Amino acid sequence: MKLVNYADMVKNNNNKSEKKYKCNCCNKYKSGEIWLEYKDNIKLCDYSCSKKYFEYRSFKLKDVINYKDFDFPRPVTKVVKKNKFRILSEKELEKLNDYEYKKYYNDLIEYEGLYPERARLQMKIQKNSDYIDNFV
Ligand SMILES: [Zn+2]
Repeated sequence: MKLVNYADMVKNNNNKSEKKYKCNCCNKYKSGEIWLEYKDNIKLCDYSCSKKYFEYRSFKLKDVINYKDFDFPRPVTKVVKKNKFRILSEKELEKLNDYEYKKYYNDLIEYEGLYPERARLQMKIQKNSDYIDNFV
């Protein structure tokens, strides 16, 4: 076994071209891939931050800059028919894990590209049903 000393570790870290960015929600400095990059230089570090950030802001998929980063290799690719796609409610979204959420997000972007009007309408309906759910 080869021991790695501290100097080597620092050297290795410096070799990596890690980009640092500040999360616009939690204001922490993060390195590595930006979870969600949005127009006007908005950067968010994870799902919960993006959720918080857009709680009182309108979220437009066309303004997402780094959505390609959501396209990461998947272990087993189950081909989901595009017309099977369904916009989930906030409650359903909360149950998704990071992987599922990214997958959903990816599909949503595609779906919105294919059927912008339908997507917009469904999002609106979904929003309203969440609202009703909260008061049941
Ligand atoms: Zn954050």
